[in-house]
Amino acid sequence: MYTKFWGAKLDFSDDLGTAAQYAEAAMQLMDQHNVPSTPQNFMIWYAYASGSNPDLKNTLDELVSDADAVSQEDSAEIFDRYFSQFTQGKDIQKTGSQMSDLVGDVMSLVNQATDDAEVFGAALEDSVGSLTNLSDPSALGHVVKLLADNTQKMLSQNRQLQGKLENSSEEIQSLKTHLEDVQKEALTDGLTEIANRKHFDTVLQSESEAAAQKGTPLALVMIDIDHFKNFNDTHGHQTGDHVLKFVGAMLKKAVKASDLPARYGGEEFALVLPNTDLSSAVALAESIRVAVAGKRLRKKQTGDDIGNITMSLGVSQYRPGESLSALIKRADDGLYQAKGLGRNQVVAETELSAVAD
Ligand code: GH3
Ligand code: MG
Ligand code: MG
Repeated sequence: MYTKFWGAKLDFSDDLGTAAQYAEAAMQLMDQHNVPSTPQNFMIWYAYASGSNPDLKNTLDELVSDADAVSQEDSAEIFDRYFSQFTQGKDIQKTGSQMSDLVGDVMSLVNQATDDAEVFGAALEDSVGSLTNLSDPSALGHVVKLLADNTQKMLSQNRQLQGKLENSSEEIQSLKTHLEDVQKEALTDGLTEIANRKHFDTVLQSESEAAAQKGTPLALVMIDIDHFKNFNDTHGHQTGDHVLKFVGAMLKKAVKASDLPARYGGEEFALVLPNTDLSSAVALAESIRVAVAGKRLRKKQTGDDIGNITMSLGVSQYRPGESLSALIKRADDGLYQAKGLGRNQVVAETELSAVAD
């Protein structure tokens, strides 16, 4: 059995504790050089301990011979240089699960070995017991006693390794959780807590590829709050922020788990709707428009009724082969046509009046 880990093939059937020893060594080295235990640093020092990249090892050796501690800047630079392939969100996710898979594999092998040794040890103890019961405990008894002692030694070594692994496993689990948090944060809009523009771009790209490949429809809705500048001017920016949160929550509530509501920027939002054709997307957009417009808002601090807000929406459907900017532009054109027609309405790409670009 082997696990592919950061490009290095580790054959656990040849060497039971290798990977665990690397992980353990990485932790110790990080401790020794005052390196904070972030996922990135762990990857750097795991690679160092495994010796899989001599160039990285030389770089680090030089660094630690010059100073007691490796600075965060140095670590960041090394990470960028040697692990640039992991700086993408998806890969970070993959790395996190690879780390815990790796530890899981080693743990189960050690557990297996410990179980085997325990069974063997117990069998030997039995034999020793029956032999020493004989009136003449012979040389054979002595040999078996030696074997039993050695087995005990092996068992205790295994238990030690197991203990170390459990610690590594806990650390790696927390590194993984940290990785996941960092990744989630990077894809979420801080105010509305729905997907941010970066996440929107990634999902629209992958969903358009999936739609083209499977021949399923994909729709896009672009949304802009009407006269939001006026709203801010009248009620204050803070209340404006609460309204943006409210819209984010309404969008989230209105869509299925497979859909993606996102904050596109400022007071603009978007919905990526896989497996949805134009007319279903228009129906959804219309129901969201009505729900938002129908909600009377109250000022948080005072409870004062501040009326309602409205939104203009544009809807387009993906045409396999087209660029994503073309898809976005048709939805945007619908949105601006809705503004021109008096706002608080939905315009589908099929309703666009012919205008020169
Ligand atoms: P229209 O109906 O044509 O869209 O008018 P509008 O006033 O909504 O459009 P405009 O682009 O002129 O103004 C957008 C406003 O959105 C201005 C800006 O202050 C507000 N805005 C953008 N981001 C935020 C934010 O994070 N918080 C708050 N409170 N307001 C924001
Ligand atoms: Mg706008
Ligand atoms: Mg607006």
